[in-house]
Amino acid sequence: MVNSCFVDMGDSYLVIDSGPTYNYAKEAYSLMKTIKNQPIAYVVNTHAHDDHWLGNSYYKQLGIDIIGSVKFKNEVKVEQTRMQKNVTKQAYEHTTQEFPNIFIEDKKTISINDQEINFSRVHDKAHSSSDLLVYIPSKSTLFMGDLVFNDRIPSLRDGNINRWIEELEKAKSGKYTFIIGGHGSMVNQHSIDITLAYLVELRDELRNALDEGLDIEDAINSITMDKFKNIAMYDVLHRQNVETAYRTLEWEQ
Ligand SMILES: [Zn+2]
Repeated sequence: MVNSCFVDMGDSYLVIDSGPTYNYAKEAYSLMKTIKNQPIAYVVNTHAHDDHWLGNSYYKQLGIDIIGSVKFKNEVKVEQTRMQKNVTKQAYEHTTQEFPNIFIEDKKTISINDQEINFSRVHDKAHSSSDLLVYIPSKSTLFMGDLVFNDRIPSLRDGNINRWIEELEKAKSGKYTFIIGGHGSMVNQHSIDITLAYLVELRDELRNALDEGLDIEDAINSITMDKFKNIAMYDVLHRQNVETAYRTLEWEQ
């Protein structure tokens, strides 16, 4: 469903993305306690898509501070969440919309057990308008939220292809042992590669199409990028991604 991370900071956990429901968060923490029984220092939300943060409702009840982008609230528009529409009433039980209470405007560093946690807000839309990067130097680990998918085609619906590629290239040139995305089990430096390759090829193909004067419909029909066809969500998202990116890139011409 989504990568919820429990980072062992020595005598507490840092939770990165609380998941899609109250019950999910509650179960996740109780499983983590069987591995190491310790409290939670903070919960972080990498962005405002609801599969990543509705579990806040459980952590809020425990009185834990929640960290998110200053743009978080702007991105939450709906009364009824996507999860509410898509999971059973029973699975959604006790879930309420609880927002972060500590906001990152640009950069901020906090310390847990003498280990630094560096937050940096992605300015402008990349995957969404509320993307937050979390870097833990002592663990050489960068958490990128949904800027990284390695088991499915990314969705450009709320994003911007140019800014997204920029963030991935920046991460690629950094020296991280682990880069952890919002979905998919790959966590080494190559976890970025599929998303980056897809977005770069999409942009190259669209720039050619625009140079040749193709209209949006012809671009959607001709830019099929067959080598990505077997990746999950291709059928649902690819055509829509071509359309969204076309509208962004036509302004470059
Ligand atoms: Zn997302």
